[in-house]
Amino acid sequence: MTEKMKAMVLSKLGKIETNPLKLTQIDKHEIKRDNEILIKIEACGVCHSQLHGIEGDWQDIGIPPTLPTVPGHEVVGKIVEIGKKVTKFKVGDRAGITPLLESCMNCQYCKEGKEYLCESMEVLGESLKGGYTEYITVTEDFATKVPESMSPEYAAPLFCAGITAYKAVKASEPSKNKKIGIFGIGGVGHMAIQFAKIEGCNVIAVSRNIKHLQVAKNLGASEIITFNEGQEFVLNELKNKIGLLDASIVFAPADIVTSTAIQSIKKGGLVVLATIGEISNFIAFEEKTIRGTLIGSRNDMKEVIKIADEKNLKVVSEVYPLEKANEVLSKLKTSEIEARAVLVP
Ligand SMILES: [Zn+2]
Ligand SMILES: [Zn+2]
Repeated sequence: MTEKMKAMVLSKLGKIETNPLKLTQIDKHEIKRDNEILIKIEACGVCHSQLHGIEGDWQDIGIPPTLPTVPGHEVVGKIVEIGKKVTKFKVGDRAGITPLLESCMNCQYCKEGKEYLCESMEVLGESLKGGYTEYITVTEDFATKVPESMSPEYAAPLFCAGITAYKAVKASEPSKNKKIGIFGIGGVGHMAIQFAKIEGCNVIAVSRNIKHLQVAKNLGASEIITFNEGQEFVLNELKNKIGLLDASIVFAPADIVTSTAIQSIKKGGLVVLATIGEISNFIAFEEKTIRGTLIGSRNDMKEVIKIADEKNLKVVSEVYPLEKANEVLSKLKTSEIEARAVLVP
């Protein structure tokens, strides 16, 4: 008989308050291919994009592609079993998985090291393979080693929030003294501030949430601006205190925020969008660039772990038992989570 494991399962899409995930016993994942490893999950971060998936906000763009699913796509744990052909890991190693569970490794994107753009990629947390459970299997090429000294609660948020922030900052072409606006300071934003600071940038943090702005301040943002008073207020504050920005990065999924970010930069400036939605106020003659970004590659992930380790990146996280997933998702929805919540099975 197949062994079982506990999991928080999503069977239909809907509001988290009325359509909670259900604690269920599902078949434990087993190693099926010789290049797979079996990870006993120690921590899984709770990402905002997962909340959108659960509530059906992103049905139009095919997320999640199937039901039921086990959500959760930033996972860290201990390797408890390895396939016959695994060479990169041994039992007892700590490893993590980004939302990119697998890609074809054959297409142009995969060959160029942009495997996160692969048309046939599989996403962690969008099938029964997700992080809100006890075990997960993955091919060794899609797992990243986590140093023993790094706690799983610290490391897990690096695997989606961290890599997303890192790549978005890289896309904003950071350099010393550049003025970079970060719109949306949650799990991802609070790490983006730090990556931009490491590059020597002046960071201006914009958020609706005063708690998040306080986190931004603590992490070294040179200015914080509330979005609560609306777009005009933000643009005026910028004009009066800072001047137009060199680049802006948008993590908040609201069209008005994107529009503000576009207007906040100087001519020839750059806006990096790490979210979806409409783009308005884009005027060709201002020679601005709008660039999209999505998670990051396996090489980016290695880089994130290295930087986190060497530069003592701060991960602001709060830890909850797996069974509290619904409560945590509700708190995330109402902005009661300071930056990132982590579930521990
Ligand atoms: Zn995520
Ligand atoms: Zn591919």
